Amino acid sequence: MARVTTVAELVAELRARIAEASDLGQAAAVLGWDQETMMPPKGAMFRATQQAALAGVIHERFTQPRVGELLSALEAPDTWTQLSDLDRAIVRVNRRDYDRATKLPAALVRDLAIATTEGVESWRKAREESRFDRFAPNLRRIVDLKRQEAGYIGSGASPYDALLDEYEPGMTAAQLQPIFVNLRQETVSLLDRIDRSGKPLDRTVLQQEYATPKQLAFTEVVLRKMGFDFEAGRQDLSTHPFTTNFGPTDVRITTRVDEHELGMALYGSIHEGGHALYEQGIPLELARTGLGNGSSLGTHESQSRLWENFIGRSEMFWTWALPLLRQEFPVQVANASPERMTAAVNQVERSYIRVEADEVTYNLHIILRFEIERRLIDGEIQVDELPSVWNEMMGQYLGLTPPNDRLGVLQDTHWASGLIGYFPTYSLGNIYAAQLWAALHRDIPDLDARISRGEFAVVLDWLRQRIFRYGRSLDGADIVERATGEAPNATYLVEYLNRKYGALYGF
Ligand code: ZN
Repeated sequence: MARVTTVAELVAELRARIAEASDLGQAAAVLGWDQETMMPPKGAMFRATQQAALAGVIHERFTQPRVGELLSALEAPDTWTQLSDLDRAIVRVNRRDYDRATKLPAALVRDLAIATTEGVESWRKAREESRFDRFAPNLRRIVDLKRQEAGYIGSGASPYDALLDEYEPGMTAAQLQPIFVNLRQETVSLLDRIDRSGKPLDRTVLQQEYATPKQLAFTEVVLRKMGFDFEAGRQDLSTHPFTTNFGPTDVRITTRVDEHELGMALYGSIHEGGHALYEQGIPLELARTGLGNGSSLGTHESQSRLWENFIGRSEMFWTWALPLLRQEFPVQVANASPERMTAAVNQVERSYIRVEADEVTYNLHIILRFEIERRLIDGEIQVDELPSVWNEMMGQYLGLTPPNDRLGVLQDTHWASGLIGYFPTYSLGNIYAAQLWAALHRDIPDLDARISRGEFAVVLDWLRQRIFRYGRSLDGADIVERATGEAPNATYLVEYLNRKYGALYGF
């Protein structure tokens, strides 16, 4: 006699399959971490095939038709009503991941992999020679394939939205546009006031001999105080700082050190530490369910920026940190004050390169990229026009004209790697962070005084309760709205920047 499968059995089978795919994914992440931190140069020879083999197995397991059947069975109205809130979230988020993984034809996935591998190679050469025309044919191919991708996964909205949705689920260009226009206008006006103040901030205190071991020791002091759990993570060195994790109980960060510039290691560590606290703070019950990571890229970036900029570049932070820094570097910071350290780490400068940009100008670099890639994907501009469009917008936004493509349209690897729709999440991170920062101050009236005493636990506890607990079960904008009581908007970021830089530059 055939036995009817119970809802509990369906849930158990889905969870088991997802847990296995998650385990394999985290094993692949260990290989990725090793490649960037520990692997000797010749290890690269077989690492690529090892990773490709694992990626193939993960894709094959997760996209099995049985996974789709289980999702459909649990989505049926009479079954759905019997599910717990957690299981509903698991079904909803894994449905989205499953559709993304299965909707694209294998030929398109393969073409994209080839086009972006060749694209990155071509981009690297074109950037060296500072010639966009050398890279243009590759980018045309990538844009064409990304539009095809959008066609397969999109739900009828603009093709750009389909791409943005991968990095910031639920967000649309129409939602972003008014937020970014406001932020751009306010930032341009703030920059003018900073220029008119005629007050350059003195960075010389940072530019002395700072020995690497002591710098690293200091970053560990700061990370511990932030609440980074070294029993559930570690910090190593890499060329570009990053955070990765193999579950919430093993979260790895990296940093990099410049012996003649104190800020690089410190702010690299604080930034990645912010990402890491988020991953270490994900509830254990969400691990291996598809929900066991931070939510969107924007939400993730809000955590790194909150710690790096709102806390780490504040005078409150330096009131606490300077005496500890002086223990490591008694000569270098003998005459420094918290005010002087704060001024040194907040210098604003109009510059060509995004990754070197300060907290104020950074968003202009992002909004420019958002405007360009949106128009490109929606067919309003063509690849050949990019250098001229780029330079014209740099003039409007930052008052600069890049002298060549290397300092302009060729500086970032994102488009060559097929990462279109990714850039906006950086500024969303700043916008979310400012809104959370304001809510933190409403909930904890003596927050600034507590940060001055190094009492960061009060911040971490708040973030755990308002942000970390959801994992991926809510979209980024929804998490921010629940935490702060309103939908994301740029007002808080504009107010924060005006207040902070008005004080620093004396207007
Ligand atoms: Zn980051």
